[in-house]
Amino acid sequence: MKEFALIDILTKRFGTKGAGFSLGIGDDCAHLVPESGVTQLVTTDMSTNGVHFSDRFCTWENIGRRVVAVNLSDLAASGVDPSLPMILFLSVAVSGEITSDQLTSFIDGVDSCIKTYGASVAGGDTTAINGPFTVSVTAIGYSRNPVNRSGALPGDLLAVFGNIGMAGAGFEILDTGRPTTGLEELTRAYCCPTPLLKIGHELAKSSLVRGMLDLSDGIFQDAGHLARQSGCDLTLHIDKLPVHPKAISELGEEKAFRIGAGFGDDYALAAAITPKDLETAAAIAQKNNTPFTVVGEFQEGTGNVRGFLRGEPYSLRSGGYEHKLGK
Ligand code: ADP
Ligand code: MG
Repeated sequence: MKEFALIDILTKRFGTKGAGFSLGIGDDCAHLVPESGVTQLVTTDMSTNGVHFSDRFCTWENIGRRVVAVNLSDLAASGVDPSLPMILFLSVAVSGEITSDQLTSFIDGVDSCIKTYGASVAGGDTTAINGPFTVSVTAIGYSRNPVNRSGALPGDLLAVFGNIGMAGAGFEILDTGRPTTGLEELTRAYCCPTPLLKIGHELAKSSLVRGMLDLSDGIFQDAGHLARQSGCDLTLHIDKLPVHPKAISELGEEKAFRIGAGFGDDYALAAAITPKDLETAAAIAQKNNTPFTVVGEFQEGTGNVRGFLRGEPYSLRSGGYEHKLGK
């Protein structure tokens, strides 16, 4: 497919105006009409075939959903108000091997995900690439109660909203070619993550989370960011991680928990909560049908994470997901 044919499809699909913007696809700039008196949140995430997802086992529609969902998850972790405009810019680098049908399915996935969560696409960029299919999404949202990673205090608890290790188990099952029947919850978690927008917003609004982030690179590493940026150490109880029972029964306990701690792609929310607010936080989780688990405690320190498995010190063989850049 040629560039302008794609832009034509995108224009028809996503329109040229929407909530929070008076001009979208089709001009040199999109014209955003920002909400007044609220903090504007902006995030960008780039994903590449073979690194962040794989068309070997995710459908192109799933890939479209996924690239939107991971950006909305960053907005959720920052306390975005999902009832205010959420505006996306979608840049794609497309290699010669990608068929028009695959591109169309990808756009179907983007479209279906933005409709699910009430977001819009207001622009982007398109290029050919001599390499794997790569997508960069920039997402803009608004919040009256923005949250960051630096508010945890010594004595706070680390709580997880959502499940851990499902996507990692799903990837392991797909990558090793095991039968997926009965394990679709896991494989879907990898190909099609769910951004926890509603609960992220409620937590931010309630002001009972002091620091929050979404778990994209494995809780061992991600919770370390929360600790370091808050000027704390963290004790992390690996055996308490909310690893899905199906992941444990399929992969065995040792592997399921190792994947849970280190693989990433969970898109659960991890937050620092003071012990007296625990019940209120649990009630918000219950109202949103979201698992709620306390998995650690913050202490005075400088960002060290000490993992324990049933009281024994625990470390990851590799340290969570970190890209190797260049040589
Ligand atoms: P320019 O040459 O001025 O950069 P482009 O030809 O790259 O403009 O893009 C034309 C219009 O199409 C712009 O409004 C841009 O935002 C939009 N656009 C291009 N690629 C995409 C894409 N992948 N997704 C959404 N909008 C896109
Ligand atoms: Mg361009």
